Formats: sequence, C-alpha cells, structure tokens
Amino acid sequence: MNKRSITVIPGDGIGPSIIDAALRIMDHAGCNFHYDYADAGLMALEKHGELLPQVTLDQITQNKIALKGPLTTPVGGGFTSINVSLRKLFNLYANVRPVVSFEGTQSRYNNIDIITIRENTEGMYSGAGQKRSDDNSSAEAMSIITREGAERIVTFGYELARKEGRKKVTVVHKANILKSTSGLFLEVAREIAPRYPDIETQEMIVDAACMNLVMYPERFDVIITTNLFGDILSDLCAGLVGGLGMAPGANIGKDVAIFEAVHGSAPDIAGQNIANPCSVILASIQMLEHLGMADKAAQIRNAVRKTIAEGKAVTRDLGGNASTTEFTDAIIANL
Ligand code: NAD
Repeated sequence: MNKRSITVIPGDGIGPSIIDAALRIMDHAGCNFHYDYADAGLMALEKHGELLPQVTLDQITQNKIALKGPLTTPVGGGFTSINVSLRKLFNLYANVRPVVSFEGTQSRYNNIDIITIRENTEGMYSGAGQKRSDDNSSAEAMSIITREGAERIVTFGYELARKEGRKKVTVVHKANILKSTSGLFLEVAREIAPRYPDIETQEMIVDAACMNLVMYPERFDVIITTNLFGDILSDLCAGLVGGLGMAPGANIGKDVAIFEAVHGSAPDIAGQNIANPCSVILASIQMLEHLGMADKAAQIRNAVRKTIAEGKAVTRDLGGNASTTEFTDAIIANL
C-alpha cells in the first residue's frame, strides 16, 4: 500500500529537534507515513532567499497535510509573520488548541480539558489597514469580521464540540465595547447556537473569561472566539496545564490542515536538547485524529501520559532533567 505523504517543516530554533521527536514516535507506533521535508522561516531565508518559498507552498498544496515546527519571523525589515501568511494563503480559518491536564506536570490544576477554537484569518490579525502617520505620531489597523467568517468558525466549533461529545460552548467576545466587530460575531453565534440544543451555550466577555479561566477552569469545555482573543486565551489555557511545552494547535481549512506547537522557536534554549517535545507530539496526535487514525493517536497519547506520570525521564519544564532525546526515548519505550 502507498504510504501517505506528509509535509514536514522542521522550522527554526528548537523546531528540528522536537519535530524529529514526533516523527520518531509516529514511526515507532507504525503510522507508516512518507515525510516530504520542506523549508520555511530563517532556514528558508538562508537557503532560498525567502521566508516562505513557493516550493514549500506547492508541496503543502499537494500533500494537504503538514506538521510544522515553530518559525522565527525576523523583527522589522518589513517581514510579515510566516504563520499569518500560511493561514491566509491556505485559508486555514479554524485554529484548534486543546489543553489537557497530564498527571505529573507541574501546574496549579489537574482537571483541565479545554479546547479553544479561534478564528484564524479575520479580526485584528487580518493585516488590513496597518499604517502609521508620516510624522509617526499615530498608528492604525483595521479589524474585520465578516458574517461568513463568523458563521464558518462558530459552526465549525459547535460541530467539533458535538463530534467530541462536549457539553458546553463558551462564546467569548467584547461586544459591549467593540460593538461592530465583536457585536457581529456574537450576533452570529446567537443565531447558530439554537441549532445545537444538545450543547449548553454561555456567553462571556473576554476580560471576565480571563478571570474565570484562572479561578474556575473546570467550568470551561469548548471556547469559541475571534482571532486576537483566541490567541491570548489559548496561551492562558496552556499555562493551566504546565506551560507552552504542553500546548499543540491545528490550523484547519477546507482543503489543507497544518499542525504545530503553539509556542515559538524558543531561541533561549535552542541547540541545547532540553526542549519539551510534547507540544509537537500532541500536535501529531491531532493530525492522526484528523486523518482518522484514532487508534494510533490514542496509543501515542497513552505513552505520553504514562511517561509524564512516571516522571523519570521528563524535561526541565516538567520538573525533570532529561534531554529532549531521553524524554522521546522514554515515550517510545512506553508505546
Ligand atoms: P517562545 O514561545 O519561543 O518562547 C517563550 C518561552 O517558552 C521561552 O522561555 C522558551 O524557552 C519557552 N518554551 C517554548 N517552547 C518550549 C518547549 N517546547 N519546551 C520548553 N520551553 C519552551 O516565544 P518567543 O521567545 O517570544 O518567540 C521566539 C520566536 O518564535 C519569535 O521569532 C516569534 O516570532 C516566533 N514564534 C513562532 C510561532 C510559531 O511558529 N507558531 C509562535 C510564536 C512565536
């Protein structure tokens, strides 16, 4: 049987080492993929003279599925974020960021199971209308919410909640102040929610959501929100389960899906073999679920769970002193 091809973008900083960990684990679990390696980020700038080469885009278009390490976007110099570009080019409108408590992680809570569903192409991150006045005394940017975009993400969120047997959706907004943009998003959510009578809906203003997430995270199940709020809330949620090393994300579009860690390239620890590879391993689990390989996903998740609970070979951020390689080896041994 032909192997399924996956585009693999190792990325910058800690990217190559944690991507390698995820691939080794999938191989040991018998996932039987063919990996097409592609460049993006600083590595691509050095090799191809651009951050996001056309050959990489062509390959993602062909394979439709990519596993991506974090990418460094050089500050200044007019570079647009590569991640934002990828999301726009492939219309990856849904960003799905699950966080789950793992026994053995050093975090304040042990009962977290929250999925943040963030609109990925509109809002404050649409990139529209960014300008500074000539004398540099003022700056402006446009936030755009469309009815179509809001309907698409809210429906995606409820469908995912139903598919995963979730009980509650929290729609997070700021419609009291951002009356046009957040107001339209909330209006659309109110139209769609009644189509899902099996799921409880609650609405929450973003500032209250931050406080409630920190104080009563067990009251949250699925969060559906706009781009900027989702970006911030999902990092907050990562903090509830032991930090960015435990936070994966999926960028889903109609044709293409790209799976990645939520965190960046972590230049402060790059090259030291101490990064926690779980973010990308959990992203690969999301990818396996997306591809209908739930048994492999469960097998890897259980091995990760067991390794962290044992606590013998975990990385520094999880309270241990194992290297990335030793942590990965321990997960493989537990498969
Ligand atoms: P970062 O997420 O790279 O790092 C923040 C902190 O978390 C650092 O102290 C880092 O050591 C730690 N950390 C992150 N991942 C870890 C892991 N797996 N294990 C252990 N510790 C981990 O954020 P930053 O330093 O602000 O950004 C660095 C670069 O990454 C920037 O160029 C930024 O643009 C880019 N970035 C890329 C993505 C992406 O590709 N999806 C996301 C965010 C930032």
